[in-house]
Amino acid sequence: MATIFTKIINREIPADIVYEDENLIAFKDINPQAPIHILVVTKKEIPTINDISPEDRVLIGEAYLTLAKIAKDLGVAENGYRVITNCNSYGGQEVFHLHFHLLAGKPLGPMLS
Ligand code: 5GP
Repeated sequence: MATIFTKIINREIPADIVYEDENLIAFKDINPQAPIHILVVTKKEIPTINDISPEDRVLIGEAYLTLAKIAKDLGVAENGYRVITNCNSYGGQEVFHLHFHLLAGKPLGPMLS
């Protein structure tokens, strides 16, 4: 099922896009939880981590390479940052389209609640 992120990919709704290639798109979170809060989203509509298949292994690797590239480009790689993927209800997932939160710009503490 198409999600709000598919609408961003298809330019049906606006977003502040910071990176895009054939397989991934990255844009600023609409409700930032840190000074820098970017979402890296697979263009393939994978609902949750549970739905990743072996054929997606290169895509997931690309997502992490892209997260690190964006962190470096934004100048936050050296100080550090956090990458999070929520899964289903206990994980607090709201949008069922695989994405990685990149949080940075301040000390984030030992763990999120
Ligand atoms: P989840 O809870 O699924 O891991 O994270 C979904 C994230 O998407 C949330 O942090 C939320 O603020 C963000 N989000 C939801 N709708 C939109 C939108 O229309 N535009 C943008 N840029 N972010 C959104």
